[in-house]
Amino acid sequence: MVSQVFTNSTIAALIQSNTYKDTLQNVVKYQPHLNIMEKYWAAWYSYMNNDILATGLMFFLLHEFTYFARCLPWFIIDQMPYFRRWKIQPTKIPSTKEQLYCLKSVLLSHFLVEAVPIWTFHPMCEKLGITVQVPFPNWKTMTFEIGLFFILEDMWHYWAHRLFHYGLFYKYIHKQHHRYAAPFGLSAEYAHPAETLSLGFGTVGMPILYVLYTGELHLFTLCVWIVLRLFQAVDSHSGYDFPWSLNKFLPFWAGAEHHDLHHHYFIGNYASSFRWWDYCLDTEAGPEAKLAREEKMKLKANKNAKKRV
Ligand SMILES: [Zn+2]
Ligand SMILES: [Zn+2]
Repeated sequence: MVSQVFTNSTIAALIQSNTYKDTLQNVVKYQPHLNIMEKYWAAWYSYMNNDILATGLMFFLLHEFTYFARCLPWFIIDQMPYFRRWKIQPTKIPSTKEQLYCLKSVLLSHFLVEAVPIWTFHPMCEKLGITVQVPFPNWKTMTFEIGLFFILEDMWHYWAHRLFHYGLFYKYIHKQHHRYAAPFGLSAEYAHPAETLSLGFGTVGMPILYVLYTGELHLFTLCVWIVLRLFQAVDSHSGYDFPWSLNKFLPFWAGAEHHDLHHHYFIGNYASSFRWWDYCLDTEAGPEAKLAREEKMKLKANKNAKKRV
C-alpha cells in the first residue's frame, strides 16, 4: 500500500525511507516549500507507508496524549491550596483515590470503546473524501470549518444531553457521568459507553455531515478540531473559574463555571461550548438563573391578572 500523502508517485518513492528521521530529511530536501507541520505530517505518512495504520495510530495517540496531558495540570492544581480561591465548589476537592479510580475507568473505556472506531477511521475518511495530502488547506478555511464544528457540536450536545436527563436515559446511561457533583479534569470522559458514542457523534459526526455536503475536508483540520474540543471538554470539568478564563473575555463561551453548575444542580446548562442555547431556551442552571426565571414568571402572572381586570 502506497501512502496518498503525495499526489506525485515519483516524489513519494524518492522520500520513502526505513527510519522516520531519514524520511523527514528527505521531505526537507525534496519538498522545501512545505511548512514545518506539513513536513512532519508528510514524513509520518511516508514512513508508515500504510495510511490506515498511520491515521488510526495517530488518532489514538493524539486522543490519549491530548486528554491526559491536559488533565495533568488540573490534577496538580487540585493538590495546591493556593488555587482554592478560584475553585467553584471550594469545599469539594477530589481525593487522589477518586481521581485514580476515574483514571482507570477512562483508560479502560478508551481502549474498549474508542479503539475500534479509531482503527476503522481511515477507510471511512477515504470513502467520504477526507484527504491526508500535503499541503494543508489555508488557515482561513480551517478557522471557518473549526468554528462551524464548534457551533454544530454545541447544538448536538445541547439536545442530546437534555434528552439524557429524561427518565430511563438518565437512570441507565447518564447517571454514571453525574457520579461527581463537583467535577475535575479527568472526569470529562467518565461516562457510559452509550453516552460516549452518542455525545461523541457531535464531535465526529458533524465534520462527517460537513464533508458529505461540501465534498472537501482535510484530516489535519479534523485533528486540530479534536484537540480543541478535548481542551474544551477537560477545561469545562476542571472545577476552576479564573479571572483569565476564556468566558471572562468571550461572554458567550460556557467554560467551567457553566458546566460546574450543571454537575452541582443536576439540571440546566446542557450545552458544551456556548451559552446561547441555555439562555434562549431558559434552561440555565443555578440559584441566580432560578431566581430570574421566577421573577419572569411573576411578572407574566401580574400582567395576565391586570389584563383580566
Ligand atoms: Zn448531565
Ligand atoms: Zn460533565
